[in-house]
Amino acid sequence: MHTPLTRVEILSIYKVHGERVLLPKRMAQAPPDVRETILALAGDVREAGGRLILSDLFRSYDMQFQAHLDWKTGKKKAYSPPPGGSMHEAGRAFDLSLRDLKIPLAEFWKMAERRGVFPIISTPDRKKSEAWHFDCPGSHRLVAEYYRSGKGDNMPPYKAMAASAILAIGVRVDTFGDNQDAARLQASLVRLGYEIGNIDGRIGRRTRAAMAEAEIDDQEPARAVARAEDLLQQRYAAEYRESSPAGSAPFDFQAPPHILA
Ligand SMILES: [Zn+2]
Repeated sequence: MHTPLTRVEILSIYKVHGERVLLPKRMAQAPPDVRETILALAGDVREAGGRLILSDLFRSYDMQFQAHLDWKTGKKKAYSPPPGGSMHEAGRAFDLSLRDLKIPLAEFWKMAERRGVFPIISTPDRKKSEAWHFDCPGSHRLVAEYYRSGKGDNMPPYKAMAASAILAIGVRVDTFGDNQDAARLQASLVRLGYEIGNIDGRIGRRTRAAMAEAEIDDQEPARAVARAEDLLQQRYAAEYRESSPAGSAPFDFQAPPHILA
């Protein structure tokens, strides 16, 4: 199965009639492990006397396309890559409100790191662009490391990680053209620890060798992907666990503790 997206109930910077509201549904989606991480982190921040309030989380292909256009036309100051390069498109990045955080950014960095959440700037300086952006890479971090160590070289490490995370939720990454399943299979093999050369959507000798080693014998990419996803689900169960307190109790309207002021 694909990595599922689940609803994340968290306060946002957006207001309706002067009251802060939960992050709107179209943005409030993330893989199960990210949801758990964000809610836990919100608890950590609250305990330290601050508040984790988000302005952005998931972006669909269309939303990312629009964000990129807005940057190109100068409507939006912060850079947004074209679709296929942002962890937001996998629901694996969030932007927080620095103003509402109320605790030193350096302290938040430490809390975040303990939960496997990472900034994309090099020092905790709140005046820097993207000081608000954090990634929750999960097993896709292995893809970045794979590229960083030179095992793949057709994309920068961060872009490869984002592509892997986006493919994992079943969304198209344009770079791979008609070879989406093949690219998804290759990224899956890298997450399983195999070396396949570049993630490029072309199944060559090395990808086939890795498939044999992983006992994925189906040559049809879509079916091979399904088999690889079974293996991923066993290894990274938290990224695939669909049931959540919100999902299992649809009639419980009590606000979860992390959104109470
Ligand atoms: Zn961001």
